[in-house]
Parts: sequence; structure tokens; C-alpha cells
Amino acid sequence: MSQAFRAIRIDSAEGVQRVGVVEQSDDGLPEGDVTVRISRSTVNYKDALAITGRSPVVRRFPMVPGIDFAGVVEASRHAAFKPGDAVVLNGWGVGETHWGGLAQRARVKGDWLVPLPAGLCAAQAMALGTAGYTAMLCVMALERLGVPPDAGEIAVSGAAGGVGSVAVMLLARAGYRVAAITGRAAEAEYLRALGAAEVLERAAFAAPGKPLAKERWAGVVDTVGSHMLANLCAATRYGGIVTACGLAGGMDFPASVAPFILRGVTLAGIDSVMCPLPRRTEAWRRLAAEVDPARLAQIAGREIGLAEAIAIAPQMLAGQVRGRVVVDVDR
Ligand code: NDP
Repeated sequence: MSQAFRAIRIDSAEGVQRVGVVEQSDDGLPEGDVTVRISRSTVNYKDALAITGRSPVVRRFPMVPGIDFAGVVEASRHAAFKPGDAVVLNGWGVGETHWGGLAQRARVKGDWLVPLPAGLCAAQAMALGTAGYTAMLCVMALERLGVPPDAGEIAVSGAAGGVGSVAVMLLARAGYRVAAITGRAAEAEYLRALGAAEVLERAAFAAPGKPLAKERWAGVVDTVGSHMLANLCAATRYGGIVTACGLAGGMDFPASVAPFILRGVTLAGIDSVMCPLPRRTEAWRRLAAEVDPARLAQIAGREIGLAEAIAIAPQMLAGQVRGRVVVDVDR
């Protein structure tokens, strides 16, 4: 018997996009071997792009947005999951080509699911969400490529955003000295409370810079791209590692090869969407082990409903949302 569930749905007619909260029938769910009753989702930067239609994130219509969710398995034909299992999903094109998490129900491939790690509830998993999981992928890359906490300062750009906030928190807890770069001076206290040793103004990194600048950073977590990324590469110390995961400031990379060929700097690309299962499982295991719930509550102070998730999308693209926003899909 088919059941109804609430979802954000994006429709498109003659190039014009319409977004609303609708009642949807189970019959419309896409193919998949696991059906999940979602309890929490979240608004990531990519969800904001999808909801506003600012970038062509959505590849087919109608689409339920939401690149991540946490919930409980309702039905499964996948060997690894049974009804009642708590799960998390990030990426794999969910919310882009396959109906996503901003809904009460989803049907997905079991291969895409990660068991909710012990120690995290659904709301905490989505307080982290794809942003937090990506921040952990950046931290793991710095470690793997040889930047231990005593190597020197780490710059985090877009620091008051979702990826940035979690990166500051994780790096500081691991013992790194973190310089948080933000366009919002008013968030300096928030960033220091998360563990930033220093807070720097975004404006100082936003204009075209020299191919090489004074060596400062042992490592970088960049969520911004464009001149920010180029300037951070130019000021990375000999042998340093720059992790690039975002484009909040632009998709371009107006840089020179000088930092790479003269200082042996490594530019490490970070992708959360197609990241292989062992690495994403490890990232979630580490998040559960290393995140301080009180700090996480500072980052994700707000829980909103589906309709509010639509309203917040333009604010997010304008860089006005601090930290993370959790969506209670039953609200
Ligand atoms: P948020 O919107 O939460 O944070 C982005 C932050 O970037 C803002 O809070 C702001 O921080 C800064 N910012 C915003 N606009 C500009 C601008 N025009 N110029 C410079 N800085 C700006 O987004 P998320 O943290 O969720 O995502 C950050 C980026 O990472 C996005 O581009 C997203 O698409 C990408 N991403 C990539 C993933 C991957 O798999 N590679 C996964 C997850 C995210 P402040 O005010 O502190 O300067």
C-alpha cells in the first residue's frame, strides 16, 4: 500500500524553477534497494545552489533536493542493512540526479549508506552533515600527506561557514594552530571559541596576489577557491599541503605554478560525493570519536523545518549563515 510523505520538490518548466513543500506518494520514489525513514537532513551549500537554481546542480526534474540525510531503514533488499538500522548518507548524486534527503522518506542504493556511527544521534550526524564529513576528509588528507600538528599554522578559509567551522574545531582539537579566515568580523569570538588561535580578515586574501608570498602556512583547508586559494597556495611553506574543497568565492583558480614547482607545495583535491566507502566510513568513525558535542552544538545552533530550508538557501549563498543548520523533516 502506498504511503504519503512530505518533501521539498523542485520542478522546472521552460527553464523556470519552482520549489515548494509537497505531499509525495511512495510510488514516486526512485529505484533503490533500501527505503529509509529520514529524521534529519540539513542545508549544505550545494543544496542552496539546487534550491535557488543558481547553479545547475539538479540534473533531472522533478527533484527532491538534499545531498545528505540521517534516518532509520524501513525496508531493505541489501545484505548489509535491515529494518531498524540507523544510517547516514552523503553524496553519490543524491539530491542532484536521485531524490534526496529534504524529505521524510528516501529510497537509495544500500551501497551508498554508512551505518550511523555509535556515539552520534541523527541530529548530531546532520549537524555535521556533508560539510562536517568533508572537513574531516580535509583533516585526514593533511595527516596522510604529512602535516602533523607541530608542522606549523593551518589556514582555514570560509571559516564561519559549515565546512570551515567544523575544520577549525577538528584541527584545534587535534592540536594544530589554526588561523581562521572570515569575511565576518562579528564571528571572531565564535571562531575563537571553536579553537582558532587567530582570526584573519578575508579581504586580505581576496584580491589578485603575487605568484609567491612570504611562507606562512604548513597546511590549508580552503572552502572558497578563486583568489583566496591562489593566495593561500602562494603563502604555503616549503613542502606544505593545500586541501581544496570549495568554491564559495568562485570556481576559478587564478594562480601560478610557482608554489608547486619552487616550494614543493601539494594541492590536494577533496571530493565528498564519490569518495570510496572505506574512507568515508573512516571519516564518520573519526567524527563520532573526535567531535565534542558541546562544541558541535555551538556550530549547529538552529533546527528548522522543510519550508524554512527553502527560505534559508539564498541567505546561505550570500554567506550569511553561521556554522550549520539542521533540518527536522517532520517539522
Ligand atoms: P557555507 O555557506 O556554510 O560556508 C561558505 C563560507 O564561505 C561562508 O560562510 C563564508 O565564510 C565564505 N564565503 C561565502 N561567500 C564568499 C565569497 N563570495 N567570497 C569568499 N568567501 C565567501 O558552505 P559550506 O561550508 O557548506 O561549503 C563551503 C564550500 O565547500 C562550498 O563551495 C561547497 O560547495 C563546498 N563543498 C564541497 C564539498 C566537496 O565534496 N568538495 C563538500 C561540501 C562542501 P566567512 O563569512 O567566514 O568568510
